[in-house]
Amino acid sequence: MQSIEDRNKQLEIDDRKYIWHPFTQMQDYEKEEPLIIEKGNGCILTDIYGNEYIDGVSSLWTNVHGHKKKELDIAIKKQLDKIAHSTLLGLSNVPAIRYAKKIVEIAPKDLTRVFYSDSGSTAVEIALKIAFQYQRQAEDGDPEKKKFISLYNSYHGDTIGSVSVGGIDLFHSMYKNLLFESIKAESPYCYRCAFGKSYPGCNLECLSRLEEIMSTHAHEVTAMVIEPLVQGASGMLIQPPGYLKKVRELCDRYNIFMIADEVAVGFGKTGKMFACEHEDVTPDIMALAKGISGGYLPLAATLTTEKIYRGFLGKYEEFKTFFHGHTYTGNPLACAVAIATLEIFEKEKVLDKLQAKIEHFKQRLKAFTLLGNVGEVRQCGIMVGIELVADKDTKESFPPEERIGHRVIKEARKQGLIIRPLGDVIVLMPPLSISIDELDRLCDITYESIRVVTEKV
Ligand SMILES: *Cc1c(COP(=O)(O)O)cnc(C)c1O
Repeated sequence: MQSIEDRNKQLEIDDRKYIWHPFTQMQDYEKEEPLIIEKGNGCILTDIYGNEYIDGVSSLWTNVHGHKKKELDIAIKKQLDKIAHSTLLGLSNVPAIRYAKKIVEIAPKDLTRVFYSDSGSTAVEIALKIAFQYQRQAEDGDPEKKKFISLYNSYHGDTIGSVSVGGIDLFHSMYKNLLFESIKAESPYCYRCAFGKSYPGCNLECLSRLEEIMSTHAHEVTAMVIEPLVQGASGMLIQPPGYLKKVRELCDRYNIFMIADEVAVGFGKTGKMFACEHEDVTPDIMALAKGISGGYLPLAATLTTEKIYRGFLGKYEEFKTFFHGHTYTGNPLACAVAIATLEIFEKEKVLDKLQAKIEHFKQRLKAFTLLGNVGEVRQCGIMVGIELVADKDTKESFPPEERIGHRVIKEARKQGLIIRPLGDVIVLMPPLSISIDELDRLCDITYESIRVVTEKV
């Protein structure tokens, strides 16, 4: 029998030997001690040595009700007693039907059709293809309308289509020659306004520019893709109030579909079930993933209006079919846990309880703005971005080789908190189920880690 110590050492060797980690410079990774998670319970992750950490970014923004949540575990086990997987291509299955009905009931009104897939990237990819194909074949479609408008600083996933509408140079510029062209509008990043203005005196200049773009390009644009309320992956950039509603109005005015990418913001992260609800907006297409399964299994859904769905109906030989489908589409285990995830929202009144946590978080974050290198603290619901700067007055960033964000999260790990930075932005996004005590600890450790690391610079 191998001892625990030997097993752990071997795991650490094999991790560095066999796994190519996503979004990770492996040359650095190979030199560092890997952190290997073995268990989770509530908001706590436990590594192979038994050390405990708060899951400060809800396992990459997915976890909602905590780890090892009893009802979710049971839902999967029960489904497992029936069947793990059967295809949705030309067949159906019970959990996929039940979940589709349930999500349509709570989604922004008019979204009535559910197309399943398995990641945020595919959910967006599907939205793009639907918006494109609709124009080529629907009665009121216009084949000239085949382009997309998206925002700088946007992130919609890593597949070629979703990268094409992405706007983060660091992630996207490498693949430029592989991508289709999309039309980019400035993002409402108020802390670093592209027009050098400040809110609210700016009168939302970014929206006037967006309107110019739309009026110039409406004849060739099928859809605008947007992360509602928060541009997550670029550092939790929060849109000013009224922005999203105005985008909806502009899309209507210029006959452009609105694709809402709720992959990050959906399922309560902003304080409401969907971010679009804050501005009473119904998109034409909505992409869901991450929190959809409570953070348990890969599942995604693209919701559309009945009008869009009808654009794909016709005789077989007209070939209006949506020729798209991933092998594990509508996986019964994933749909079963997604149903249970929604049931917990209802049964435990999760969104009601969340409001006090959001407010507590807000109070605790005030102290951070006083730190010498914190440029801005941005919060929307339970989603937080703390932007670190070398100089608060000039907003000058740290040089990338300082790896300031990385150093902060390494320090936090030592103190029992797992978080992940986006460049120089420290992201906090715990599961909705986090307790006030855990939230306090998360804030204490983050504060201390920023202080310790920036004092040394
Ligand atoms: C994470 C994310 C995606 C991509 O989801 P994957 O499941 O990683 O493919 C797309 N859009 C947004 C807004 C995201 O945050």
